Amino acid sequence: VEGTQPLNRRAALAGLSSVFLVSPARGAPPRLDLSGRYQQGGFALGRTVPGAQVFLDGQEVTRASASGAFFIGFDRDAASRAVVRVVGPGGEASRTLPIAATDYDIQRIRGLGGRGGGKASPELEARMAWEVRRKADAFASKAAREDFMTGFSVPVAYTRISARFGGQRIVDGRPRPPHHGIDLAAPRGTPVRAPAGGVVVLAENGLLYEGGLVMIDHGQGLITAYLHLSRVDVLRGQAVRGGEVIGAVGATGRATGPHLCWRMKWRGRNMDPMLLVGARAPA
Ligand SMILES: [Zn+2]
Repeated sequence: VEGTQPLNRRAALAGLSSVFLVSPARGAPPRLDLSGRYQQGGFALGRTVPGAQVFLDGQEVTRASASGAFFIGFDRDAASRAVVRVVGPGGEASRTLPIAATDYDIQRIRGLGGRGGGKASPELEARMAWEVRRKADAFASKAAREDFMTGFSVPVAYTRISARFGGQRIVDGRPRPPHHGIDLAAPRGTPVRAPAGGVVVLAENGLLYEGGLVMIDHGQGLITAYLHLSRVDVLRGQAVRGGEVIGAVGATGRATGPHLCWRMKWRGRNMDPMLLVGARAPA
């Protein structure tokens, strides 16, 4: 028990309630192995002891799975360092990761004016509110899976990247919302495949902005989204394997041409899904 008591006391002082804290401290601090892309929009895959509490920059963000796996995402605008800390039955371990800045496509343009829209009808406003709720619910899903540990594949055979992750227009000095996906141009009807296993948490046609939209939970709240689909081939609640067709490329919703807008989000943080392609978890 040497040296473990102060760690647990510190955890208790920080207001952490956990079954671990009522059991006597024992053994060595937990293992903490990380791999990933430590940059804005990137991620870390972690291994520690099963059920350990996982903290990012002092905030509890998740718990390790039954096998000790966990996921951490770094937002588009993440700060230049991140502290990952795990607290297990025997104590705690932490690592400080330098987070590299990512270069985004920033366009400064002069507005053309006259963009003022009329007021939306009550029906349209109700429809928009319903869509916002459905998407927020899907992004909040936290399936007890660890498909994220097996690495991702590119979901579509694309011809070119028509818009990179994180790009932003600044119109007359006013920043517009950044592009939180990556746009992969491909002919209409090209199959879209799940990049890894998961469970479908949203499958809808005819959304105002996204058109045909599928969202998949890969575990630990890591959600990927597929926008503007011409066809949706899965149902909400359905489990999918990596490589399984979930829909087809289209230009539904607000899109100027056929492409797949691929998004990835983890607990409120927006990430570049292409960085997950070929990722390898720590052994
Ligand atoms: Zn997009």
